[in-house]
Amino acid sequence: ATPTAVMVATGKGAPQGVLIKGGNALEKAHKVKTVVFDKTGTLTVGKPVVVSMKVFSSMPIQEFCHIAEAVEANSEHPIAKAVVQHAKKLHQMYVSTLKHKAEVEDFEVHAGYGVSRKIGDKLVLVGNKRLMVAHNVPIISEVEYYMSESEQLARTCVLVAINGMVSGAFAVTDPVKPEAEQVISFLKSMNITSIMVTGDNWATANAISKEVGIVTVFAETEPLREADKIKDLQLNGTAVAMVGDGINDSPALAAADVGMAIGAGTDVAIEAADIVLMKSNLEDVVTAIDLSRKTSLGSD
Ligand code: ADP
Ligand code: MG
Repeated sequence: ATPTAVMVATGKGAPQGVLIKGGNALEKAHKVKTVVFDKTGTLTVGKPVVVSMKVFSSMPIQEFCHIAEAVEANSEHPIAKAVVQHAKKLHQMYVSTLKHKAEVEDFEVHAGYGVSRKIGDKLVLVGNKRLMVAHNVPIISEVEYYMSESEQLARTCVLVAINGMVSGAFAVTDPVKPEAEQVISFLKSMNITSIMVTGDNWATANAISKEVGIVTVFAETEPLREADKIKDLQLNGTAVAMVGDGINDSPALAAADVGMAIGAGTDVAIEAADIVLMKSNLEDVVTAIDLSRKTSLGSD
């Protein structure tokens, strides 16, 4: 594309809410053969809510919620926000039995797994099964059953272990964006393969990918390892686009031939991307590729 063509297309994208940073992305976008989508906040709305809760111990439900909230209140993860919001709702329903604020210390983030914190003499872990396994917390069959039941419904299970035992769990749901399925199928008609990448577990990831019509999934991906997946896909010369919203997505957005950030995403992702989808609508992945196509046609 000539500089003028790039300027025109950039100018064309802007009113549609597709912000293209420079001509390089615009020249490459129409060559894309694979689009990698982050799950949470990209394919899904990104605002998970707790839809069920189960206590496996004899602990009163309000105490269980209070403990989970005290740990998750320190986390920025959208799942943490869902747990806190749910616990707050329960506070309004029950009069808290906790007379004084517990001493809390040693908050820790286990990226891709969950969080932990000491509350008085209790060590509390909040996160996925892998976090529990890493801390030698046994998963009893009752917990296993609740998890698989939730995951088949595309929900993510949050386990809460207190002193080495799973005391209870929450199931959160994060619906897919209404346009997701149509966009994936449209990309397919353009001969473009869609792939989903997530740190979430395989069962939930597979349930979500089925909903949107994505066949290839990379689940339980360590944060920051998304970029390696992009590099693998590029090995045979395929032009790869990455669409993401989170801090963890930024290395992958930078590694991709074309990085597309969701406008509602984090500043870090927006900075790392070549194209910003200002309306946070996945249809604009196609808009961006179309603009690129038109630009190259006009100049070649
Ligand atoms: P993603 O953004 O794809 O969901 P992350 O790497 O942020 O991936 O997290 C992977 C998984 O780790 C989550 O699906 C969740 O199970 C668990 N996790 C991470 N942080 C928390 C948290 N604060 N509370 C509960 N679970 C968490
Ligand atoms: Mg995300």
